[in-house]
Amino acid sequence: MTAYPHLLSPIDLGHVVLPNRVLMGSMHTGLEETGDWGRVAAFYAARAAGGVALIVTGGMAPNREGGVFPGAAGLYTPADIANHRRVTGAVHDAGGRIAMQILHAGRYAYSKDCVGPSAIKSPISPFVPRELDEAGIEKQIADIAAAAARAREAGYDGVEVMGSEGYFLNQFLVRHTNRRDDRWGGPYENRMRLPVEVVRRVRAAVGPDFIVIYRISLIDLIPEGSTWDEVVRLARAVERAGASILNTGIGWHEARVPTIATRVPRRAFAWLTARLRPAVGIPVVASNRINTPEVAEAVLAEGAADMVSMARPFLADPDFVAKAAAGRAADIAPCIACNQACLDHTFSGRLTSCLVNPRACHEDDLRYDPAPVERRIAVVGAGAAGMMAALVAAWRGHRVTLFEKGAEVGGQLNLAKAVPGKEEFRGLVDWFAGQIGRAGIDLRLRAAPGVDDLCGFDHVVVATGVVPRDPGIPADPGAHVLRYDQVLAGAPVGARVAVVGAGGIGFDVAEFLVHQGPSPAEDVALWAREWGVGDPASAPGGLAPEGPRPEPPARAVTLLQRKPGKPGAGLGKTTGWIHRAALAMKGVEMRGGLAYARIAADGLHVVTKDGPAVIPADTVVICAGQEPDRALADALAAAGIPHDVIGGADVAAELDAKRAIDQGARLAARL
Ligand code: NAP
Ligand code: SF4
Repeated sequence: MTAYPHLLSPIDLGHVVLPNRVLMGSMHTGLEETGDWGRVAAFYAARAAGGVALIVTGGMAPNREGGVFPGAAGLYTPADIANHRRVTGAVHDAGGRIAMQILHAGRYAYSKDCVGPSAIKSPISPFVPRELDEAGIEKQIADIAAAAARAREAGYDGVEVMGSEGYFLNQFLVRHTNRRDDRWGGPYENRMRLPVEVVRRVRAAVGPDFIVIYRISLIDLIPEGSTWDEVVRLARAVERAGASILNTGIGWHEARVPTIATRVPRRAFAWLTARLRPAVGIPVVASNRINTPEVAEAVLAEGAADMVSMARPFLADPDFVAKAAAGRAADIAPCIACNQACLDHTFSGRLTSCLVNPRACHEDDLRYDPAPVERRIAVVGAGAAGMMAALVAAWRGHRVTLFEKGAEVGGQLNLAKAVPGKEEFRGLVDWFAGQIGRAGIDLRLRAAPGVDDLCGFDHVVVATGVVPRDPGIPADPGAHVLRYDQVLAGAPVGARVAVVGAGGIGFDVAEFLVHQGPSPAEDVALWAREWGVGDPASAPGGLAPEGPRPEPPARAVTLLQRKPGKPGAGLGKTTGWIHRAALAMKGVEMRGGLAYARIAADGLHVVTKDGPAVIPADTVVICAGQEPDRALADALAAAGIPHDVIGGADVAAELDAKRAIDQGARLAARL
């Protein structure tokens, strides 16, 4: 008897029965744009082999003006069809099914050729779209329908018509972007004409025995967004027009509410899918922040959806479904919703991967093949880099001993676990701990081996991590000064705090210090209040009229850096704004362009361009970066013992878990 009876039950779509309720949601990986379609095929085939019922590809442009950026992958030519056939063939050979997402970006296209319902620039693009005339609209519909027909020719099992997240079709639906007064604008029946017509023409182009998914925006999270009545009207009209599944989208890209980041509670939007489901007769798919089989099962068991969509979890672990089905859910590498290697890469023009699984999108070039010869390997340090190196080495058949000087594995990941909004790191550390046990690694806690202890191994991997940097600011005897690790471990902190250093850790510490009570990341109602998320039934677009109402801050915090400008510029591309907004809502003062003079009982004495000043503080917390801990590496080098150095012990600057895990995996794949 499975623990996931709903998740693993088949679903009948009429002409086809899917083996389970899991849809792999669309993600732009950047693989198609490399031109290496063998790699694209390998990526999707690995997920199909892992048991997902239906894959949806990254968004494919139906024409040049609809591409997300110039040169974005699409399906316009016979050559395109041949490329896509490689993907569909590989997925089918692996026993899976795959639908192609047709994505017309409208005014979100990063191109001077972009088009839209009205000439209204989006806040996330420098280009003003060209307002389409009647013939221009007809061309877009025809191109989308033609792309669907080509998708069928290329062997896909279906298409997903992208109608959410603020893209082209969504732009016609709301007055925020549609100011037309012809038959495509004005009253809602006119504004919804385009998406409905697109679905009708797509269905006509592909015939009855083909999956047509429409991705509908349940809550736009923008001013003048759709009301709930409008969402339901559209859903029913799209169903009548021939859609076979309603997948759901949450929030426009320009929304100032986080919708998928780690601080968004799990299944935060399933209440909307639950409300839509009884209003339509076709399957409804729940989406966003569903990342474990338990959460997915609960959504389905409660009747909140017919299927669940997960996207990033399939970067973290292609075998998610197979492991759940085999009773091995604890082995599923968890997506922690950090965006660091996926969306942050995508939005900076880099190939997508995954912090937890560096093989994602690197299936061919990073392989964990069996080692030709078994070796005895010592890994010193069970932080992110050391744990990953130990695991990959053990998976490849080496005999691995992992030394950790502390009482538990995890290293700096254990600091992240303490930060409100970063609770997902707990699952990541648990996963590492479980895998270390299951891989047969000899784990030695509270052990700090020296050269003599290590000389009997065939190879040593030094992952001794970092030590907090002491910036050497003079402190008076009465001053209260703490390091970030002491604060995150629970050291008492005063009511007014100055934080020295505004990198990732300075922001995390500030978040920790202003927080009190339950974490909004674990409480949907609290989170919705914090970010001003309301009910689209009473507030168009789901923006609460009263705006964000965060809990009051626990302390007065000032966050500081020496360099000029606003702190936080170096945070994650897609999450930095969330960190800055969250702290601003809690009244955190952020200051740059100063020098530290002295820490005294009355606070932090600084020198600004206007002269000396005091930042009143009962406690000063030092978050001034880290230095590599290279003592062991230096001793091994002096003794002539072969070793590699990884993670923070190698380079501390700009270290994060993504680089540490990637470096550990790549080294161990070569050993
Ligand atoms: P960091 O990002 O390098 O920031 C260090 C901070 O300390 C900077 O604000 C720097 O600003 C200041 N600083 C450096 N040397 C100083 C000195 N001698 N005296 C005073 N201030 C000094 O390092 P971190 O905050 O420790 O983070 C470590 C790594 O973990 C980073 O790569 C970070 O991205 C990552 N991390 C990421 C997240 C995330 O949310 N993605 C969260 C936590 C950590 P000034 O030099 O201008 O003063
Ligand atoms: Fe999930 Fe982070 Fe991996 Fe992206 S990089 S898939 S958010 S764990």
